[in-house]
Amino acid sequence: MLNIVLFGPPGAGKGTQSQKLIAHYHLVHLSTGDLLRAQIAQGTELGLRAKKLMDEGLLVPDEVVIGMIDSALSANEEAAGFIFDGFPRTVPQAESLDRLLAQHRAQIGCMVALEVKEEELVTRLLERGKTSNRPDDQDETKIRRRVTVYNTETAQVAGYYAAQHKFHALNGTGAIDDIFGQVCAVIDQHRAALDEAPAAATEEVQA
Ligand code: AMP
Repeated sequence: MLNIVLFGPPGAGKGTQSQKLIAHYHLVHLSTGDLLRAQIAQGTELGLRAKKLMDEGLLVPDEVVIGMIDSALSANEEAAGFIFDGFPRTVPQAESLDRLLAQHRAQIGCMVALEVKEEELVTRLLERGKTSNRPDDQDETKIRRRVTVYNTETAQVAGYYAAQHKFHALNGTGAIDDIFGQVCAVIDQHRAALDEAPAAATEEVQA
């Protein structure tokens, strides 16, 4: 199984790269933002509660997103692997993801972080807000709050994967296809290492 965490602040290009990656590697895309927006569209109670936080640019409680990921993993038992986009956003979410994947005899292969400067993020998100219909993309104060939340609450998740030697950072500015090529290079390097040492990887999962 090939499980990748695509990481980075809002507007870094995770959604765009995810679409290309799922087509290239035949993976299932799990975006907690998309899953939450689907709940909002369906008018569920979870969606209504999440919407208030999302519209303000704040994080939804860990147990809500972990529950959604748990269900999604169980609903996709036959998947070749997953791209996690916008999840995990806190260390407890990362710990839960490791536990959930272990239940499916799987693990995260690598995290690829897309790095983009704040001013570029704000410009991109305001531009996206013209067509995305997302209230959190249409107001500069909310956009900057999301970036602050990323810096204060989410950025430390990188350290969690770095400690497992799974963290790779890339410059997320430039042509989409160039960035895609660099993301693929990281993933292919990880797969090549797996092919060389499949036994070690299996032992890790069982540990
Ligand atoms: P995104 O589509 O990833 O930009 O997420 C939009 C919003 O959904 C975020 O600003 C949060 O309010 C919420 N959200 C998405 N994923 C998570 C997560 N893993 N943990 C907490 N909140 C999340």
